Amino acid sequence: MDLFHDSPLFTGVRQMLGAFAKQSIRPIAMKHDRDEAMPWDLMKSAMAFGMTQTSVLDGRKKLTGVEEDPDPKKPKSQARLAVAASEELAWGCAGISLALGGSGLACSPVHAMGTDDQKQEFRKLLSGVDDKGHVKVAAMALSEPGTGSDISGLKTTAVADGDHWVIRGSKQWITNGQSASVFVVWAQTEPSAGRAGVRGFIVARGTPGLVPGKKETKLGIRASETAQVHFEDVRVHKDMMLGVGRSGGLADTKKMLDSTRPVVGSQSVGIARAAFEFLLDRVKSTSLHGTPMASHQHIMFELADMQMEITAARMLAHRAAWMADHHLENVMEASMAKAHGARTAQYVTTRAMVLLGEEALEPGHPVEKWYRDAKIYDIFEGTGQIQRRIIAKQLTGHNPT
Ligand SMILES: Cc1cc2nc3c(=O)[nH]c(=O)nc-3n(C[C@H](O)[C@H](O)[C@H](O)COP(=O)(O)OP(=O)(O)OC[C@H]3O[C@@H](n4cnc5c(N)ncnc54)[C@H](O)[C@@H]3O)c2cc1C
Repeated sequence: MDLFHDSPLFTGVRQMLGAFAKQSIRPIAMKHDRDEAMPWDLMKSAMAFGMTQTSVLDGRKKLTGVEEDPDPKKPKSQARLAVAASEELAWGCAGISLALGGSGLACSPVHAMGTDDQKQEFRKLLSGVDDKGHVKVAAMALSEPGTGSDISGLKTTAVADGDHWVIRGSKQWITNGQSASVFVVWAQTEPSAGRAGVRGFIVARGTPGLVPGKKETKLGIRASETAQVHFEDVRVHKDMMLGVGRSGGLADTKKMLDSTRPVVGSQSVGIARAAFEFLLDRVKSTSLHGTPMASHQHIMFELADMQMEITAARMLAHRAAWMADHHLENVMEASMAKAHGARTAQYVTTRAMVLLGEEALEPGHPVEKWYRDAKIYDIFEGTGQIQRRIIAKQLTGHNPT
């Protein structure tokens, strides 16, 4: 089904990225998963499609050639485009899609809270290639050892010193953490202010005291790099603090998640669709105990259930993105899209493994990879439990204890 049948813009982006995923991502997906290596060459060639590391800041023009209407009150299309693009790219490989778009995590707060000068500086730090000849990438460093879901407990501090802030602390599970040329790091500037005291800072690689740490070995999305980052009395000029003059502090990062969660939900849909299509092809072409697989009712019912869940997950993601594009509050819808997408990816990949039998247990089998990739979607960008807390609070006004 084509949800975008009435929009040539969305259909075009979906078709273009679907073809890119099929021709350029799928053929290298297994290798990058096995080697746990970022797809640096592909990241360079993807720039020709407008997939720059600053595309969140640049808006839709680079991807579609069409400018967004500058009137802030008019509906936008960026959230829906991002959702449509994410499903296609994650269908190709979720880890590679995160490598292609991981800098967007750091671009989002700069886009939402940065001044024009900060945006310009951030773009400058991300332009060109790094000393290894790789496309430059950015990282958003919020999570810490012991502080993932409950970000109000951040231990990293920023202490004012003349025209500078001095940042001290360690971050964990940071996408692009080892290779990033620029970081957006979150630190507590005023412990007595709680969440409102938490601020983001733009920090360039090479700043003394910024030490990228150990790269993690992961179950899934292995083409996307995840690492620790240490800040050992890193001096950052006060002009590089985001959100000056805004009271929101950490609350501003929560708003940001309302536009990124539908995208993450849509990536889960891409993984689920990949496994579903593999299974469907097999069911149509193979026999079980001497009769066509497609004649076994238990298998056909499983396919029907999978199709229902995938379509529902896709629609939730598009609904949440449509609301973001129309400037409507979408806290609950964004969480539903994220949580339902994650559940669907795990459900479909698990059932596909069961129905395919022992072949899918072989390391290097595509369904085995998608099964591993799906798990992370229940953890990052807010775990499944955290999404349910948000939904329940929207329903009742109460935080579940
Ligand atoms: C591959 C990967 C990439 C990542 N990339 C980034 C990144 O780029 N930048 C970044 O800052 N972070 C990143 N993270 C970190 C990620 O956001 C955290 O792992 C996530 O927020 C969960 O935090 P935690 O792992 O500390 O788990 P915890 O918060 O310790 O949670 C452990 C368990 O307790 C549950 N739980 C916690 N609090 C509650 C509650 N109040 N009610 C009910 N249940 C609760 C959780 O749902 C979970 O089941 C990444 C993580 C991974 C795995």
